[in-house]
Amino acid sequence: MIVINGGTVLTVNDADDVHFGGHVVLDGDRIAAVGAGDYPGGPEAGTEVIDATGMIVMPGLVDLHYHTAIGKGFCDHLPLLESLEEVWYPSIRALDPETADWAALNSYAESIKNGVTTVNDMYRQLGALGRAAEEIGIRAVLSNDVALPEHNLDTLQDNQDAYAAVHGLGQGRIEVYVGIEWLPLASPELLRDARALAGELGTGIHVHLNESLGEVENSKERFGRRPTEVAYDAGLLGADCVAAHCVWLTDHEIGLMRETGTHISHNPSSNAKLGNGVARLPEMLAAGINVGLGHDAAESSNTCDLFDVMKFASLIHRAYRVDASLLQAPEVVRMATRNGAAALRHDTGQLVVGRKADVILVDTANPMFTPLMPGDKAHIYSHLVFSANGSAVHTTIVDGRILMRGRELLTMDEQQILAEANQGFLRTLKAING
Ligand SMILES: [Zn+2]
Repeated sequence: MIVINGGTVLTVNDADDVHFGGHVVLDGDRIAAVGAGDYPGGPEAGTEVIDATGMIVMPGLVDLHYHTAIGKGFCDHLPLLESLEEVWYPSIRALDPETADWAALNSYAESIKNGVTTVNDMYRQLGALGRAAEEIGIRAVLSNDVALPEHNLDTLQDNQDAYAAVHGLGQGRIEVYVGIEWLPLASPELLRDARALAGELGTGIHVHLNESLGEVENSKERFGRRPTEVAYDAGLLGADCVAAHCVWLTDHEIGLMRETGTHISHNPSSNAKLGNGVARLPEMLAAGINVGLGHDAAESSNTCDLFDVMKFASLIHRAYRVDASLLQAPEVVRMATRNGAAALRHDTGQLVVGRKADVILVDTANPMFTPLMPGDKAHIYSHLVFSANGSAVHTTIVDGRILMRGRELLTMDEQQILAEANQGFLRTLKAING
């Protein structure tokens, strides 16, 4: 049992309760108590008591659109299609399982250090990724990069094999979804088959959809319809489907998303860096669509810090619409926590009794949180979204297991991960260049 006393408990529950000097109790992988004041129960044998004075205790962040990264800092000036062809596809085609393992550990370590407790990771070599997630302790939904065979990526058979190999590892902490790379590398038949496989396995779907104007044009040319219409007609959309990006949605496409209960991952820093445009987030939210946040990939946004994404998710729409009232801080925090959890149908994202014990402690004893008005909820939210970055995260807990404390990764040797990830990157570069 872990008793966390003395912190500012930001529950992100339905009533948006905040307990200043409150407690959170973790019993095994579940939250056993949340409330005001110190935990009234006596310390039982084996209980670990964490003094969270000066810290915000809140749900771990959910990175709803994620790719393990093998490289970053290359071709930073290229648009989406060129960047995929120059950097992304060559590197993931050259990937060996050992490199995938260390690349995943490096990505997950960065996420854990930034307070992310769940990743929705579309990548290849899922056997290696599943073992990496199990070892380092993060919650992971994994999906393959499935495309038509001529593109030499993954097949639905690969995805099915990955499901058999790693779905359910880590006491259910690791799941496997069916992944679709994107429509330019797919066909309506492939989307139908992906839906059938998800149904057969009883799992969800992760797809890139309507990311760029080029994708929309490609879809209209090849299929005579816009990307969301093609996905809808193929039966791909649904309450078990996470669609990433959705930048150029028409009103009709927003209606299809709403009708099917499809969840959207909004990835504003990736969209901005690749020059893909600004998604119609205010309209999506007004339509009642569940929208979470993702960083996409370090190749496209260079950091796994979801605090960075939260700030983008507010500021980009204010700049674009010339309206400072848009995307206020509490709504953005909900997107990064409970909305992401709801999209993956997880029992996380809120500090509520009975939910999974995925909790982070954010240190306020630093300039990012100074000055801080005592007992002021709005000030906490403001600093989290507009001022802080992930380096303020002190402790990260998943399923009641402490993965990081005092910025130190406890489950693995961080220096070894960095060294091996560098070696894996060099091996991949060699394989690409021959
Ligand atoms: Zn992506």
